[in-house]
Amino acid sequence: PNRRCYRQGDSEERKAIRDVTAAQQTIHVGGEWRSALSGATREIIDPVDATAFAVVAEGGVRDTDDAVAAARAAFDDGSWPRTPVAERAALLRRVADLLERDRERIGALESQDAGKTLEEGRVDVDCVRDAFRYFADLVEKEDGGRAVDAGSDDIRSVVVHEPVGVCALITPWNYPLLQASWKIAPALAAGNTFVIKPSEITPLTTVVLVELLLEAGLPLGAANIVTGPGHTVGARLAEHPDVDLVSFTGGLVSGTKVARAAADSVKKVALELGGKNPNVVFADACSTPEGFDTAVDQALNAAFIHSGQVCSAGSRLIVEESLRERFVAELARRAGQIRLGRGTDEGVECGPLVSAAQLARTEEYVASALGEGAVLRAGGERPAGPGYFYRPTVLDRCHRRMRVIREEIFGPVLTVETFRTEEEAVALANDTEYGLAGAVWTSDAARARRVAARLRHGTVWINDFHPYLPQAEWGGFGKSGIGRELGPTGLAEYREAKHIYQNLAPRPVRWFAGTTAK
Ligand code: NAD
Repeated sequence: PNRRCYRQGDSEERKAIRDVTAAQQTIHVGGEWRSALSGATREIIDPVDATAFAVVAEGGVRDTDDAVAAARAAFDDGSWPRTPVAERAALLRRVADLLERDRERIGALESQDAGKTLEEGRVDVDCVRDAFRYFADLVEKEDGGRAVDAGSDDIRSVVVHEPVGVCALITPWNYPLLQASWKIAPALAAGNTFVIKPSEITPLTTVVLVELLLEAGLPLGAANIVTGPGHTVGARLAEHPDVDLVSFTGGLVSGTKVARAAADSVKKVALELGGKNPNVVFADACSTPEGFDTAVDQALNAAFIHSGQVCSAGSRLIVEESLRERFVAELARRAGQIRLGRGTDEGVECGPLVSAAQLARTEEYVASALGEGAVLRAGGERPAGPGYFYRPTVLDRCHRRMRVIREEIFGPVLTVETFRTEEEAVALANDTEYGLAGAVWTSDAARARRVAARLRHGTVWINDFHPYLPQAEWGGFGKSGIGRELGPTGLAEYREAKHIYQNLAPRPVRWFAGTTAK
């Protein structure tokens, strides 16, 4: 495909992009790249300077219906679902190779679109590649059916897996490509066809990924994309009677709408929602200078990487009271040193927030916390200049009744709470309606095990923060979601189990003993 939906580079090119009509063909339906049927378009904004740098099609309900019809036809004709598993795995591996080939281009595009550093963009592409390779290996390993012992030599009983059907995949703006890959790779590995709707704020790399799927040889119609808003395209996908499964990653409010819309047609629903993730630090973790340095460094990383726009961000520091002053003073000092700027510039460590709305939301939360008695230790303001930047912010002396403690901010804001006993630490860490991820820092191995066992979160880190593995399930307790991505469960979400029971010596059962054979 030679169509391009973006231009990177100097400002002349940025101006030119608005005139490039081909750039608006970001909807892919049944093998054809198209504009929106309505002709509507949307400018994609670079959050570093708030200027438009690309134009995409603004799809609507009719585009969505076409895409679902294409995915349905491709599923029903069997070309992809009945492709042998080894060939499906080989295609996924080709996609991984193409991602490696285009790492710089895609990493730069993700960096510009989502406001990440270039290095973060590159790492995201590597993680996407790894997801494709992981699911290729997994589906080959887990392909055979499972024999069931029916307790009789006359019965052959086996459980096999089949694809669910047409999948609607709806993704957020913070990790646009990565979140897409956690859905697309297992969906295709299992033999499904899909329609993806990326976030309207950051659709570009998902468009590129669909191009790569086609280049790798995916049958036409198996992969479809509709760029457009959630309340039209997303909502239609969630309710569409011909969609068999909807997998959504995003906020709690949209997620509950998706679940409601999916209910009438009894779709399978997977939700990956937000988090309000505790980072629990015991004083014993900081009894050596190295321990202290590591715990502070990782608390900084937990809260501020990608300006805190991470579902698993460690935005609640829960620190032992005796350590609080020393820990928070050093954390605040380092937070003030984080270098903000354009992700491609030398030495920049952190980009802006993704949008004006996200910036306004962050400002509003910080104001509310200060109004409720929080003490500002770092940040709390925007730097001068254009773009949606906000300084890494540390709010000390927070308590569980504050909105900043209860609600997901999704910005560079770290709140500080304290505890005196292990019991209190666990109670604070679990005092959230979410349950996505949490960490405990301690040098006491028994305490680490005890606390990890009691945290009601889908991922628990001990003396670390943020790493995930494609082999390990990712997802949340409570309002952080339903289902899991990654790991064997992440593939199982996209499969139906079918029990085939074969009677090798059929006989009458004579339940209706009063009936007689003629
Ligand atoms: P969002 O809920 O606003 O949007 C997510 C997606 O849903 C977008 O594509 C949007 O267009 C679409 N959408 C919006 N309304 C919809 C509707 N009524 N029906 C169907 N689709 C609709 O979320 P966001 O602001 O893009 O992303 C941030 C959120 O995502 C945060 O809450 C974050 O915690 C969460 N998130 C969770 C994970 C995870 O793994 N649990 C990962 C990344 C992000």
